[in-house]
Amino acid sequence: MSNQSTFYAINAATNEELEGPFENATLEHIDSVVNTATAAFDIYKKVDNNKKAAFLDQIADEILNLGDALLERCHLETGLPIARLQGERGRTMGQLKLFASLVREGSWVDARIDTAIPDRAPLPKADIRHMLIPLGPVVVFGASNFPLAFSTAGGDTASALAAGCPVIVKGHKAHPGTSKMVADAISKAIDICGMPKGTFSLILGNTRSVGETLVKHPGVKAVGFTGSYGGGKALFEYANARPEPIPVFAEMGSTNPVFILPEALKEKGEEIAAGMAGSITLGVGQFCTNPGLSFVQKSDDLNKFYNQLKLKISESPAGVMLTPDIKKAYDKGIERTLSIKNVEEFSVGLNGDSPNAGTPRIFKTSIEDFNQNEDLSEENFGPSSVLVEANSKNEIIEAAKNLCGHLTATVFGTAKDLEEYKELFDILPKKVGRIIVNGYPTGVEVCHSMVHGGPYPSTTAPQSTSVGTGAIKRFVRPVCFQSYPNSLLPDELKNENPLNIWRLVDGDFKNSKI
Ligand code: NAP
Repeated sequence: MSNQSTFYAINAATNEELEGPFENATLEHIDSVVNTATAAFDIYKKVDNNKKAAFLDQIADEILNLGDALLERCHLETGLPIARLQGERGRTMGQLKLFASLVREGSWVDARIDTAIPDRAPLPKADIRHMLIPLGPVVVFGASNFPLAFSTAGGDTASALAAGCPVIVKGHKAHPGTSKMVADAISKAIDICGMPKGTFSLILGNTRSVGETLVKHPGVKAVGFTGSYGGGKALFEYANARPEPIPVFAEMGSTNPVFILPEALKEKGEEIAAGMAGSITLGVGQFCTNPGLSFVQKSDDLNKFYNQLKLKISESPAGVMLTPDIKKAYDKGIERTLSIKNVEEFSVGLNGDSPNAGTPRIFKTSIEDFNQNEDLSEENFGPSSVLVEANSKNEIIEAAKNLCGHLTATVFGTAKDLEEYKELFDILPKKVGRIIVNGYPTGVEVCHSMVHGGPYPSTTAPQSTSVGTGAIKRFVRPVCFQSYPNSLLPDELKNENPLNIWRLVDGDFKNSKI
C-alpha cells in the first residue's frame, strides 16, 4: 500500500490542486469495509422489493438534492461542461429509477417452475424451481469518463444494488470530491430507507494497490469496471488468481468500426461526414463508443465525404481532457499513429489553451497499410479516428472478418447497399455487442434491450451488458430448489405467487398462482 496518507484532486483545465485532501484507504480500512458489506449482505438480500425500489429512488432524489454544487465540483475535477454534467446527472437518476421499477415489478428473477409428476414412468419427476439470487458484495471501479453515470451511483452500482448486492465503490482518483458528495447522498438514502450499514461504501485512493487489495479480498464476490484495457485485464487476472476466483465485468473500450458503403457515400456522403465529425469529437472523444475506425471504398464519390469531414474537423475546437494522464496517453497515441508508414494526417482541429486540451485529429491510410499495422486498430481514447480506404467489396468484407471484439459496429448504407453487403450482417454479430444501421455509435440508450458489451478484448465477459436493465444479470447466479416444501420456498417461487410476478410454469409464461 502507498505510504502517502492523502491525495488531492487536480483541476482538469489547469492542473492545479483542488480543495482536499482525500484519504488513501489503508489495508485495515478496506478490510473493515468489506467485512461490513459482507454482514450487510445477509440483511440486504432479504429486503422486500418495494423497499429496495424505494431505496434506489431515494438515492436518485438525494443526488438531485446535492444541487449545482455537485455539478460545479465535477466540472472542476473532470473538465466536462456543466450542460453535459446536467445531462449525465439526469441519466444517472434515470438509471436508478429504471432499476427501481425493475425491482418493484419483480419478474427479472427469471422464476421457473417445473411441477412434479409423481406417476411419470419409468421414473417420477421431482418438483424443481429456479430463480436468480444475488452474488454478494460487489466492487465497482468508477470510470473517469462518466463521473456520475458510471461512477459512485452509476449503472454498475444501480444494477448491483437492484440485484440485492452491497456495493463498494473504488472511486476514480480523478474525481474524489464528486465521488464523496454522491457517496454522502447514498448514505443519506440508506438512513432514510433503513438499509443496513455497509449496503454501500466508498473507498478512495490514488494508488493501484487500493484496487488490487479490494479485488483480492475474499469477501468480494464480483467486480464491475470501465476503463483501460490494461486496467481491466489486470483486475481480471487478480480475480482469477484468487483461491476463489470471481467474475470481473470489465468494459475496456473499443474502436467501434464504421463501414460506409458506396451508394450511401454517393447519396449522403456530406451528411454522413458531418454527423461523423460530431460523433468523433463529442465529449472530446472520451466515449467508449467513439468511432475510431472507418472503412470506405475507393470511388469518385469519396471526395464530397472527405471534403466535408476535413472541413468539419478543422472547425472543431479542442476540449479539456479528463486528466493530465489521459491527455498524455492521447498525445502518445497520436505520435504512434504519425510514426506509422503511409499514414496521412487527414485533418486537424483547433488548438486549445488548457494544458490538457485534446485537439481532434483524423488520419487516413490504405487497406494494405492498415492490414500491416496492428497499432492502427487500437483505441486512442480522445477525438481521433482513422479512415481506411479499401479497393473493393471483398476487402471490406475481409476487414470485417479480421476485426477483434468491439462494443459496436456501424453500417451506413442504402437499401441496395445493405442487400449487396449482406454478408457483413453475418459477420458483425460475431464481433460486437451492438450493430447500428445509418446512425452513430455514441449515445447509449439506457433501456431494457441495450447491449453495451462485446467479445474480448472489448470486455472480459461477452455474455453480459453494462448498460440497461440486462446489467443486473451480472451480479446474480441461478439456484434451483428441488422437492422443497412450499413454505420453505422464496416468495418468488411459492405456489400462491404472492409477488404476482411472471414465471415460466411447466413451459408457459404465467403471472397467476399454480
Ligand atoms: P484506468 O487506468 O483503467 O483506471 C480505471 C480504474 O482502475 C482506476 O480506479 C484505476 O486506479 C484502476 N486500475 C487501473 N489499473 C489497475 C491495476 N493494475 N490495479 C488496480 N487498479 C487499477 O482508466 P482511466 O484512468 O480512466 O484512463 C486511462 C485510460 O483508460 C485512457 O487513456 C483510456 O485509454 C482508457 N479509458 C477507456 C474508457 C472506456 O470507456 N473504454 C474509459 C475511460 C478510460 P488508479 O486511479 O489508482 O490508477
